[in-house]
Formats: sequence, structure tokens, C-alpha cells
Amino acid sequence: MSRSEELYTQAQLSIPGGVNSPVRAFKGVGGTPVFIEQAEGAYMFDADGKKYIDYVGSWGPMILGHNHPDVRNAAIDAASRGLSFGTPTAIEISMAEKVISLVPSIEKVRMVNSGTEATMSAIRLARGYTGRNKILKFEGCYHGHADALLVNAGSGALTLGVPSSPGVPADVAQHTLTVGFNQLDQVEQVFKEVGDDIACIIVEPVAGNMNCIPPQPGFLEGLRALCDTYGSVLIFDEVMTGFRVSRGGAQQFYQVQPDLTCLGKVIGGGMPVGAFGGKADIMNHIAPLGPVYQAGTLSGNPVAMAAGLAALNAISDESQYQLLEDNVTKLMDGFRASAAKHGIPLTTNQAGGMFGFFFTDAEQVTSFEQATQCNMEQFKAFYHAMLEQGVYLAPSAYEAGFMSFAHSDDDIEETLRCADVAFARLAKQ
Ligand code: PMP
Repeated sequence: MSRSEELYTQAQLSIPGGVNSPVRAFKGVGGTPVFIEQAEGAYMFDADGKKYIDYVGSWGPMILGHNHPDVRNAAIDAASRGLSFGTPTAIEISMAEKVISLVPSIEKVRMVNSGTEATMSAIRLARGYTGRNKILKFEGCYHGHADALLVNAGSGALTLGVPSSPGVPADVAQHTLTVGFNQLDQVEQVFKEVGDDIACIIVEPVAGNMNCIPPQPGFLEGLRALCDTYGSVLIFDEVMTGFRVSRGGAQQFYQVQPDLTCLGKVIGGGMPVGAFGGKADIMNHIAPLGPVYQAGTLSGNPVAMAAGLAALNAISDESQYQLLEDNVTKLMDGFRASAAKHGIPLTTNQAGGMFGFFFTDAEQVTSFEQATQCNMEQFKAFYHAMLEQGVYLAPSAYEAGFMSFAHSDDDIEETLRCADVAFARLAKQ
């Protein structure tokens, strides 16, 4: 038995499912989750001492690579002065100013402790600001686990939302409308019927929770125009895309400005940090300035702010993103070429430092429906062939992959060598 298998067995006795967040349990690919002990740059090392080239990056935060010295030292330095004060601190101002300088549409920003808090708070603010209850989201997009967001589409876009988890009251879910990602015609239809009741649209500008699906040309622009026409708030959930798709996020990459932006992952450099921000006249509705309540004992925590600010300072060079994108292109071109060589149908998507690959005959995957129709058996077999060879990909066909600045040409070459072996094995099945 490997050490990871021993730990997984032990963990299940005291932690539900043995994990503190469900996707870590490898349900999407089967087998035993790998328990990690240490990580450095592009690599992770498991409890059995095995080394992996990592394309998950703690699910997004590690754009600089693991254990970056600037981030580590900033956290240690801040910790030496105290872990939390529950008072305002100067570093919170530096962090706010940094975020405002990097993200085009943010004029004011508030720190929270997770992506879930960021989206939950942004939606409350949009509702409080507009005085409306309904929100519109997209099938296959994930915005954290707040009640209003754990909702499936009803049988038609205009039927009531249905809770996607026990514990979410139908009364809450009914205000959440769900339509297809990249389906602007569906959004237009919903707005025609109930647009005056819609507080906000919340969207992942590049969907990263149904594999990786970029917006079709005109989609984000269309959402912007509808929100302008109907007085609804446009929220970009950039928890995944922020400081990842480009330095200024997807809004800079696609040149569409939302009213509110949710941030997480990279913004904390690995510490539990999220943020939401946007136009000052909307943000001024939050307590203590305005009536919309939102709070957090540990929000703006000095150690988290120090780590996050060090991470954002280290990515202040825009040119790093071109290199990141070129490396993602190299990896995806290599995957497709290798799959084609072995007769395995495969298509890929990418945006900045995010990527996704799909086992499908389709030329391009642009919708949730297509993402769900891919060959899951091939994905699982490929996943385990890569893991065995020391390449750590997201253990689910519905997650995006992440490249970091620490990945070298050699790492990409080695990954492509492993992929060639994996595709060859699939071809024999
Ligand atoms: N929004 C998006 C787009 C996400 O990908 C995630 C997490 N994967 C969240 C929100 C929730 O963030 P957290 O897990 O930090 O609560």
C-alpha cells in the first residue's frame, strides 16, 4: 500500500470522504487521491516521494509556481508581527490600490476570504443596489457554494431554478435563472420577458468549471449591452481568470468591462483570499457606507494581504503573460499533434494561462452540452497514464488546466513525451 493510500484510508475515518473539498477525492477519475507533502516551482512531491509536473497549481493560485520566495518571505515577515488584529492596517490600502491599478473596471474593492464569499457578496450587493431579486447564471459555470448559486436550470430557461443540492431551499433557488453559456439568444429571450426584474448576470468570462470554454466572439459584449439596456449589474466572476488570462484578467483580454468583478485564487498567492470590486457608485452601497451588509473578522488579514500583495507585485510585468500563452499553445498544439498521430479524436481550448482538452470528434467545444458529451473513459485512462508518469492534471474532465510562470521548456517537452505514451496506450485499447 502506498503512503497516499494509507493516508486516504485514515482520512476517511475523521473527514467526510477523506477530503476538505469534494473534487480532491478523485471521484471524476477513480483511484486514490495523491497526498502532497511539498511543492516547489512547477513541481509537487507526494507522500511517497514521487515528483509531479503540476498543471493544477492549487486550482489556480500558483501562477508564479509553488513556494515562490517573494510570497513565502512576505508571509513569514508579516506573521512575525502578529497573525490578526481585526483593525484596519496599511497593507490593506496597498492591496486595494494594487488591485485597482491592475483590473481595468475596479474603482473600489473589498477583501474577503474565499471566492465563494466574493460571489455571494457581489450578488447581495447587486440585489441591494437594483432592488431586484432575480439573478441570471450559466449552465456549467461554478461560482462557489452559496445557496443562490447551487441551482440547476429548470426544463426551460424561464421555469423556476431547481436546487442542485439538498439543503438549498426551493424558495431561494427560484430567483436564479440559468441559460446556456455562449447562447446569447437565450439570454436575450429571458431579458425580453423578465429583464426589468433581473438584478444581475454573473458569468465566468472564460468558463473554467466545465473544462475550459472561452466566450464566443460577441457573447460578453452582448451581456454588457443587455445589462446596460435593462439596468442590470454585470458581474464577471474572475476568481479563476483574474491575473491568469492576462494581468488585468479576462476583462482586459476581451476588452469588456463588467460593473462588478469577483476575484480569488491568484489574489491570495496561496492564502485564503478573495475580493469583489467595481464601480464606486455601486461599491458605495456596502456597509458601513451604505445599507448592504457584508463583513468578515479575518477579511484583509495581514498575513494573507502580505502574501497576496507579494504575488501581485511579482506579476506586474505584462510580458510574462505572452510567454505563458506561448507555453500553453506549445502544450496544446503538442497534445493535438500526438493524439492525431495515434488516431485519438481530441480538441483543445485555451485562454492566457488556462487550457482544456476534450476527447471528442467535434472541431471545437463551445457549450456545456458538448463538454458533457466527451469520451469520459478515454479521459480517465489518459489521466491515470499521465499521473503514473509524473504529470499532475486536474482529476476531473470538467476542470481547466493551469500553466505557471515556473514551467520551463523542458517541463513542457517532458509533459508532451508522457502524453505521447498515454495517447499510444489509448490507441491500443
Ligand atoms: N468562482 C469560480 C469561477 C471558481 O472557479 C471558484 C472555485 N473553483 C469559486 C468561484 C469559489 O471559490 P472558493 O473555492 O475559493 O470559494
